[in-house]
Amino acid sequence: LEKLFVSDARDAAHVGKTVLIQGWIRTRRDSKGGFSFLEINDGSCMGNIQVIADADLANYKDEIQRLSAGCSVAIEGEVKASEGKQATEIQASQVTVLGWADDFPLQKKRHSFEKLREWAHIRARSNTFGAVARVRNQICQSIHQFFHENNFLYVHTPIITASDCEGAGEMFKVTTLDLDRLAKSGGPVNYEFDFFDKPSFLTVSGQLEAETYATALGRVYTFGPTFRAENSNTSRHLSEFWMIEPEAAFFDLADDMALAESFLRKILSDVLNRCDEDLQFFDQRIQKGLIESLRKVAETPFQHMTYTDAIKVLENCGESFEFPIAWGTDLQAEHERYLTEKHVAGPLILTDYPSTIKPFYMRLSDDRKTVAAMDVLVPGVGEIIGGSQREERLDVLTQRMAEMDLREEDYWWYLDLRRYGTVPHAGFGLGLERLVQYTTGMANIRDVIPFPRTPGNAEF
Ligand code: ATP
Ligand code: MG
Ligand code: MG
Ligand code: MG
Repeated sequence: LEKLFVSDARDAAHVGKTVLIQGWIRTRRDSKGGFSFLEINDGSCMGNIQVIADADLANYKDEIQRLSAGCSVAIEGEVKASEGKQATEIQASQVTVLGWADDFPLQKKRHSFEKLREWAHIRARSNTFGAVARVRNQICQSIHQFFHENNFLYVHTPIITASDCEGAGEMFKVTTLDLDRLAKSGGPVNYEFDFFDKPSFLTVSGQLEAETYATALGRVYTFGPTFRAENSNTSRHLSEFWMIEPEAAFFDLADDMALAESFLRKILSDVLNRCDEDLQFFDQRIQKGLIESLRKVAETPFQHMTYTDAIKVLENCGESFEFPIAWGTDLQAEHERYLTEKHVAGPLILTDYPSTIKPFYMRLSDDRKTVAAMDVLVPGVGEIIGGSQREERLDVLTQRMAEMDLREEDYWWYLDLRRYGTVPHAGFGLGLERLVQYTTGMANIRDVIPFPRTPGNAEF
């Protein structure tokens, strides 16, 4: 008896074998001829396998005919060639019920994504969330493969840190609890302490720490959870998200952009090649034309534009934006969408942003007004990557820190990297969830991570 995943059992190569399939019922249909069709899914692929259970099975009347969506079952039977849409089906010799599912919330076919967010513990059983999970998994595999093939070393940067990398003050503070003291006090008392008496926070980016390894090992990347206490209820912001951050010594901005572009192309072509069934689903149900547009992006060089030129385009396009735009202001989602969806109709790399709207570590350009920054914007999502060449000159860096009221003593170790054998280097940060949004066409970022954390939402 061979244990098969549904994805394998659907393959005609297994016809004639006696197998064991384990999964969950999607639907049951009883035929007048005295047998039932069970559609079984086990998450290994989008599709189900059809199982035929004849009325002469011992538990046909009291169990099989009571099976409903959500029940878990183990099926023994023979894989047969099928005349239907699928290549194979299974003729059951035994159907064992593992778990019943009365009142299963997903009985009804369609629920809104809002409703499904309340059932974060159940929604992976639906087609959409199963497909998102498989695409997300493929992207993560491809990320590690891409960097491995390009000689980037995977390093782990800390989750708890004292430095606010982005300087935006959007950090969650880490404290320790002294519950003993609380219990003994018998009254209200401060029982929260700074982590070992120094203020510390959940990381907003692993970049500064990654730079320390890049300036020793050459090319590194970090890929882990990041946290931002931003009170923004948008369809592209989470309080907890996963970030991919490559950092490379002897890289300038042009190298950085080339890396970002070949990285995105590799991810898209892997997803197109390896997640075909899931992408077909997104193409039909979520975003018409998705596959064709991803394929085009995977094959065409990205367009480039300076921030200054982008502002000119936005000022002269005749569109009325909610947020007025002028040189020196940061682009909002609506501006990024205009540029990618209407102006170039594809991904766009914007470069040379004003230094005043970018963090202290970006390399100041000769004009002293802009920095060697690049953002990659894509249709539907907007900013997906933020990157830059880093300021490697100690004097320029300390001057910029002073202008931004950052204390040198808080960054002494970061400045040391410029004191001991400083080199030009560059890197970028890519939000995993925004990339999953882009490749699946899912409109809301809360629907591409298993347990979305947003303001007021961290129950389970
Ligand atoms: P935005 O302008 O959209 O708020 P940002 O410029 O603040 O993004 P960066 O600090 O440049 O973001 O972070 C690098 C990348 O991390 C972004 O390009 C984006 O892909 C992702 N990212 C940033 N903030 C979030 C968030 N709150 N939720 C999910 N992904 C995020
Ligand atoms: Mg932000
Ligand atoms: Mg931004
Ligand atoms: Mg950014």
